[in-house]
Amino acid sequence: PAKLYIVATPIGNISDITYRAIEILQQVDLIAAEDTRHSGKLLSHYHIKKPMFPLHDHNERQRGQVLIEKIKAGQSIALISDAGTPLISDPGYHLVNECRAAGVDIVPIPGACAAIAALSAAGMPSDRFSFEGFLPAKGKSKQDKLKALIEESRTMIFYESPRRVQDTVEQIISIFGGDRKLVIARELTKIFESFYALTAEEMLVWLKEDTNHCRGEFVLMVAGAQKDDDAIPQVALNTLTLLKEQLP
Ligand code: SAM
Repeated sequence: PAKLYIVATPIGNISDITYRAIEILQQVDLIAAEDTRHSGKLLSHYHIKKPMFPLHDHNERQRGQVLIEKIKAGQSIALISDAGTPLISDPGYHLVNECRAAGVDIVPIPGACAAIAALSAAGMPSDRFSFEGFLPAKGKSKQDKLKALIEESRTMIFYESPRRVQDTVEQIISIFGGDRKLVIARELTKIFESFYALTAEEMLVWLKEDTNHCRGEFVLMVAGAQKDDDAIPQVALNTLTLLKEQLP
């Protein structure tokens, strides 16, 4: 039967696509893409010519049903996004969710993902981590989100826009403290790929040093909170709160 393939594409270097991904893209009847013009360049590089179907954040809920009908009618579809793995801070969740509910076979074709590439070379604890995607753009919600992560002990991975990275580092200093270790992975797989491992305070200095430092695509990794052995554990604090309610 026809299937939905979730196909990872490169995050910069056009060679970062698997043989299997190319085979699947050659084989399917239709390619659903976030931006058909953008993806057209990748496809033409690999001499793949297929009908395309735009599927982005704004039309995903309505257009999903159309795609499900097509799959049920026997057409296999590949979903790709502008870069990396679909659904990872990219469209596709609603489509996959609806396809699962409709009993459509869904096959992942794994490949590049900026978060995983960044973590794999950051030198930060990678045994456990928390992918946080994009922080909210607005000040208050961004602060609330960061405050909710104060006790997070796993490495946190954020996607960042160049316009907001400096503000984010400033917020991190005020909420997590200037000593928190950060790693920025910039322009992964591209010509100017670079990693910067600095404290939050040092990172801010570096970002302000040169406007070029705020250019490009960023993955920001934040070290998890250190467990302080002398501190009263959260469970004990919760018990105290409960006890206090019971006391006269
Ligand atoms: N689906 C993609 C993935 O699998 O990584 C992520 C898409 S999200 C809309 C785009 C964000 O991913 C960028 O703002 C940046 O934070 C990060 N990103 C994508 N490509 C990158 C690269 N080459 N270097 C660093 N960060 C990248």
